[in-house]
Amino acid sequence: MAVSLAGVSKHFERARGAPVVALDDINLTVLRHEFVALIGPSGCGKSTILRLLAGLMPATSGSTAIFGYPMEKPRDDIGIVFQRPTLLPWLSIRNNVLFPIRHKRRMVTPALKQEADRLLEVVGLADFAESRPSELSGGMQQRAAIARALVQNPDILLMDEPFSALDALTRDEMALELLRIWAERPKTVVFVTHSIPEALLLSDRIIVMSARPGRIVRQINVPFARPRSLATMEDPAFNNMANDIRRGVFSAEARA
Ligand code: ADP
Ligand code: MG
Repeated sequence: MAVSLAGVSKHFERARGAPVVALDDINLTVLRHEFVALIGPSGCGKSTILRLLAGLMPATSGSTAIFGYPMEKPRDDIGIVFQRPTLLPWLSIRNNVLFPIRHKRRMVTPALKQEADRLLEVVGLADFAESRPSELSGGMQQRAAIARALVQNPDILLMDEPFSALDALTRDEMALELLRIWAERPKTVVFVTHSIPEALLLSDRIIVMSARPGRIVRQINVPFARPRSLATMEDPAFNNMANDIRRGVFSAEARA
């Protein structure tokens, strides 16, 4: 088991009124190398789940474990990609990718530099290693952020709507690129998205949440064979599943 949340709740105190119940009794396990997508209406606690798994904040109750160990603080074997690339503007793209290593005051060895360049090649930025973030488009910056999350070859990759700021074409391209990376170096992925087709294209299992209090209302095993491609989305079964899930998400929204 790579990830497990057992009876996890998260309340946020407010200056006025009762605390917000962001998550209520979440039970979720993710197997090693499984690709899980989290979907649900805005505000249902998807980012909160990722922040708990990343060790960025504690749960109010319940237990969060990574590889069987209670989650207490951020770990080196977890890579995170946020919705925005959050690159440091004064560093080159290569040094942004290497930033997690420097941040931990670890030595940037020639092997790590090579790994950074290899990852930049994988995400199509080999020619931009020396560039500054401002010289890259939003999509290119997000690719750099993905390379940065991968530089320590983490066992677990947490992605919070990583493609949502991209245009539709770049978005599909990035999704397929992510599948290639995942096939080449298997990882446990927890991927938050608003897009049902994206969840279906990428994941082994889709977790559907309802809003306030955030709960898991449904889990769907995605049956499509791998490797997947844009042709996967043309399968009529793909559309049927997407519609079925969409109805489920809307009814979850209506209940909230
Ligand atoms: P999602 O990512 O699904 O849109 P979030 O996990 O960001 O949802 O938020 C879930 C709920 O928790 C929301 O109601 C949000 O307002 C609340 N929330 C999230 N982070 C905080 C915080 N740091 N302080 C107070 N409330 C928060
Ligand atoms: Mg969010």
